[in-house]
Amino acid sequence: MPLDPKRTVAELRELQKLTGDENGAQRVAWTDTWVQAQDWMASKLEGIEMEFDEARNQWWTLRGASDKELLIGGHLDSVPNGGWLDGALNVVAGAEVLRRIAEEGEPPVTVRLVSWADEEGARFGRSLFGSSAAAGSMADQNELRQLTDQDGISLPDAIGAHGVDLDQATEARRQLETAAAYLELHIEQGPVLEGMGLPLGVVLGTFGVERHRITWRGQAAHAGSTPMDKRRDALAGAAKLALEIRDIAKHTGEGAVCTSGSVTTKPGIVTSVVETAEQLLDQRHLDADKLAQMLDDTKVASRRFADEEHIEVEWERIWQIEPILFDAELIELADEAIKEVAGTSHRLPSGPLHDAAEVARAGAPTVMLFVQSLRGLSHTKLEDTKEEHIELSVRALNGLADRAIARLA
Ligand SMILES: [Zn+2]
Repeated sequence: MPLDPKRTVAELRELQKLTGDENGAQRVAWTDTWVQAQDWMASKLEGIEMEFDEARNQWWTLRGASDKELLIGGHLDSVPNGGWLDGALNVVAGAEVLRRIAEEGEPPVTVRLVSWADEEGARFGRSLFGSSAAAGSMADQNELRQLTDQDGISLPDAIGAHGVDLDQATEARRQLETAAAYLELHIEQGPVLEGMGLPLGVVLGTFGVERHRITWRGQAAHAGSTPMDKRRDALAGAAKLALEIRDIAKHTGEGAVCTSGSVTTKPGIVTSVVETAEQLLDQRHLDADKLAQMLDDTKVASRRFADEEHIEVEWERIWQIEPILFDAELIELADEAIKEVAGTSHRLPSGPLHDAAEVARAGAPTVMLFVQSLRGLSHTKLEDTKEEHIELSVRALNGLADRAIARLA
């Protein structure tokens, strides 16, 4: 069987019918519908060696002339009321490439397809379960043990019902020990490629993130009796900063984004000047130095605003993650593969985290392909990609797999 990208579209429609309803995809991890999707995928790859590992990642393996492994990955789980493509495209397109390679006899290197368990974290709020177990970065077992879903079912019980033991899950690490390259195709889930009129792009890596809580302290005072020039208004600092981060992101450039997602004020009544304003800030960049500079610039600006408003400002880090850069050589190969099928390629960072970031963090050379998302929508039943673009993405993944195999052989 030669590569048949139309079959990928047909199979994705089949999966959509099988595991979705009028509200969208319902393949939430650790549910019967998820298992149904796994069984369905297995039926499409009958005859190819299949196994579940200790974290319930689903693997298909084509043994090659060499033990070196090329991995292609994705995830079959979705958020509740999710889209038909997020994660599933990666696996179903990977299956098409795998069948094509199998048809041609023993490949020069071992080729494996993986469907990672619980990428979305929709039920327990913990994303990248299977890939972090395999990457050796699942270091929060004790926190995972405490997690419960909306019905009060604990994570250990829910995964136990699917044969997974939390303490054993990290044994999945052995899966990445011989990984020589990892490829992942994904819908963009953003508006960049559509805006440029391009079907496909190469992902350079995933953003580093800095999240902080900024507390501004002024003085509560009567809204009627306190003259404007005598106020110490905590909200004024937060407000100035919320606008300043637009300039800071612009000056930093190269895709920098800053978001002030929340400001909580106290006493929070209409008759008082704000005494404390608690502001949440999220900053992202692909370059670690630029991210650090952007954070620094924001801190400097906050002190200036505190002085101007005669208030105090205090910073506290909530969460941080380093940028993860994909492999330079694989990025080149991905560029070639895209140009071959679409004429033009574009390189872009990924805002969302993906399983690929976990694999890259574990040290395996990694790259991702993005295919255009219509209106940039995802995690909704409105998520969509033109069928012709889906077909192009299958051909690009196929071309990239061939190039990666040639490089590894
Ligand atoms: Zn996804």
